[in-house]
Amino acid sequence: MIQISNLVKVYDTGDRALQGVSLTVPRGQVVALIGPSGAGKSTLLRCINRLVTPSSGSITLDSVDLTTLNKKQLRQARTKMGMIFQEYALVEHITVLENVLSGRLGSMRMIPSLLRRYPGGLVEQALKLLREVGLEDQFEKRADALSGGQRQRVGIARALMQEPRLLLVDEPTASLDPKTARIIMRLIINACRERNLPAIINLHDVQLARHFSDRILGLEKGRLVFDGEPGELNDEI
Ligand code: ADP
Ligand code: ADP
Repeated sequence: MIQISNLVKVYDTGDRALQGVSLTVPRGQVVALIGPSGAGKSTLLRCINRLVTPSSGSITLDSVDLTTLNKKQLRQARTKMGMIFQEYALVEHITVLENVLSGRLGSMRMIPSLLRRYPGGLVEQALKLLREVGLEDQFEKRADALSGGQRQRVGIARALMQEPRLLLVDEPTASLDPKTARIIMRLIINACRERNLPAIINLHDVQLARHFSDRILGLEKGRLVFDGEPGELNDEI
């Protein structure tokens, strides 16, 4: 599980993006983070994966305090955080299978030798994940030949390839049509359910948050202003 305590982020520009955020997400819980643009949603995710350094407060993942790690420990901790992005962040000129493998290997340079040396193992695992997201017959295609929805399926498989302890998901459907958006949300939710994986999902779409989360957190001006089940959310939010 992930525990965040009194998290504050003030950027060098003076922007007070997070003003004391505390929350705990237990294993298996899917949390939707909603709020207007500039509320601090991206900053919160970036503090967890440490693309942004928090100003104060603590973040612990499975009882490891992420705010006190050295570089090497941080790299290790990051391998346990699966990230899914709005614009997919695939490597365009390599195949679907290679993109999924990069979730485990990181460096693209490793992949050709891996494919030679370990024909089974990781490759099999990657293909199994592609089956889970409905893309197994596309594994040899280059990423740049895929539609948006297919790209996000690859993004999900790549994150799961990390065997993560936490999923961090930033506006996964903002570039997709409404129908595809729901399919993608369903895939993410099912993946979390199956693995008892906690997830924090930034969503600007409140309807999606209502349908596809266990819990909704509302962020406004860097503070939590709502924390409850989807059914408790007022219509006007
Ligand atoms: P959201 O994801 O909810 O739209 P952000 O976390 O992107 O919110 O932004 C929260 C606040 O922090 C905003 O006022 C934004 O302008 C500011 N901010 C975000 N990133 C940076 C940055 N790299 N440098 C300075 N200010 C930033
Ligand atoms: P999103 O809507 O996805 O949160 P934003 O448009 O807020 O994205 O931010 C895009 C990029 O610009 C991010 O890297 C963010 O950190 C940075 N950024 C946002 N606000 C500011 C700001 N006031 N000053 C500097 N960088 C910012």
